[in-house]
Amino acid sequence: MDTQARDRAHFAAKAAATTFHTDHFIDGDFVPASDGRRFPTINPATGETLATVARGTQADVDRAVAVARRTFRSGVWSKAAPRDRLAVMERFAQLIEAHAEEFAVLDSLDMGKPVSDMLNIDVPFSATTIKFFAETADKFDGAVTATASSALHYILRQPLGVVAIIVPWNYPLMMAAWKLGPALVTGNSVVLKPAEQSPLSAGLLARLFVEAGGPAGVLNVVHGLGEEVGRALGLHMDVDKIGFTGSTEVGKLLMTYAGQSNMKRVTTECGGKTPQVVMADVEDIDLAVTYAVNGIYGNQGEVCNAGSRILVEAAIHDEFVDRFRARAAEAFRPGDPLDPATTMGPLVTAEHQKRVLGYIDVGRAEGASLAFGGGVPAGLEAGAYVEPTLFTGVANGMRIAREEIFGPVGTILKVADEAEAIAVANDSVYGLAASIWTRDVSRAHRFARDVEAGVVWVNCFDHGDMTSIWGGFKQTGNGRDKCVEALTQYTQTKSVWVELR
Ligand code: NAD
Repeated sequence: MDTQARDRAHFAAKAAATTFHTDHFIDGDFVPASDGRRFPTINPATGETLATVARGTQADVDRAVAVARRTFRSGVWSKAAPRDRLAVMERFAQLIEAHAEEFAVLDSLDMGKPVSDMLNIDVPFSATTIKFFAETADKFDGAVTATASSALHYILRQPLGVVAIIVPWNYPLMMAAWKLGPALVTGNSVVLKPAEQSPLSAGLLARLFVEAGGPAGVLNVVHGLGEEVGRALGLHMDVDKIGFTGSTEVGKLLMTYAGQSNMKRVTTECGGKTPQVVMADVEDIDLAVTYAVNGIYGNQGEVCNAGSRILVEAAIHDEFVDRFRARAAEAFRPGDPLDPATTMGPLVTAEHQKRVLGYIDVGRAEGASLAFGGGVPAGLEAGAYVEPTLFTGVANGMRIAREEIFGPVGTILKVADEAEAIAVANDSVYGLAASIWTRDVSRAHRFARDVEAGVVWVNCFDHGDMTSIWGGFKQTGNGRDKCVEALTQYTQTKSVWVELR
């Protein structure tokens, strides 16, 4: 999308004219919290309050779940002809595209993402996700199995019922779309809980589903705090499944809640500490540098698969660091997210800024050397900004190499050879993604085989498509998004025997 043709003034005017949907969306209507309480949502670029949002209660969760259950049982969506669901989902995707600028300013204002990233990444990929899953509506089915001819045995694939979708703030629209696509197309009813840091786009999304012809009550939104609304959904006796993207810590809590309540299914897409390995036989070092820089500073580093551990073979280490520094300075300069020329916005909240700056202090105290950045950019002190930052001389035992910082802080670790690169890459509790740059085909395949990660990139980084699987190993969780396999996570199988006499 050509965002350069529209300037900051255009997006500022759009932002001023945009309606904020700040109430829950239940049974096709916007409704306030049962006790009327609200919480503020803040623009991290300025520190100003944008709006106040309904703060969900147990009663709100109960109401939304009851509506979702009633709608599911009614069959209005769960038993609709797959091609009817397909048509609604396709219109839903078209409406998301048609409201691209509205979504762009909503999430940009709410969590600081550059408006150009919203228009080039989040909005089109969200629409593509819904479109992709729409197309599976009548192509994902059960089977008749090879039993003796005296009986017919078939497998029905059915929706689960009421699905709660709990999403993070780093890609508010896209994370919701990744889960809504498979959950809705297979006939479930949904309660969506957006992150409290980025609630503004969810109401528009739910409204558009109804505008597309989705029955009221199939897609509901309950806003609120994680420990309140998220927890209530996790412990609810009438929620059949939680589709979760967020931190490993909360993913573990949700698995515990399931055990404490009704053994609901829980799929988790959690944190990462992605290694980007650059071997000395890399064909094009500048290309590797460009991808490495984008891999850690894109989306302010607030990315689950941010390539935050850059493992460079000793022979090219110093040259790599010099080129990395130059490229980062050229490509990422923090600025106003509503300006389409901006490539890096503020972090999501002042609290998160403090956390990320705290990690920079930890890195210094641990003895890593600060190659550049490390502070708040001059002139942007009113917002939650952090400079693009790089540490060199990092050892994998340091906290900055082990913990997910979730900000624009890269670490470069020197490795002696391939064996050390794999050992260090795998020395992490996370296992979302990994990349290797090498000219050696066998080495590339050895790495792909041995690295403990759900997604591997060879001589590239962050490639993706709806046909590829998104999900991790180890404490990144058990979810698989964005692919046909995702449909299995929102359906269950039933075995039916018919005796033929
Ligand atoms: P978070 O875990 O703090 O919050 C995620 C969601 O969980 C929010 O909606 C929040 O309100 C809710 N929540 C918080 N406490 C809860 C509780 N006790 N019970 C139920 N729900 C609760 O994560 P975040 O800070 O919003 O997002 C950042 C995290 O998300 C990072 O760890 C990142 O790696 C991860 N992430 C993973 C992927 C992936 O595909 N693997 C994608 C994006 C983000």
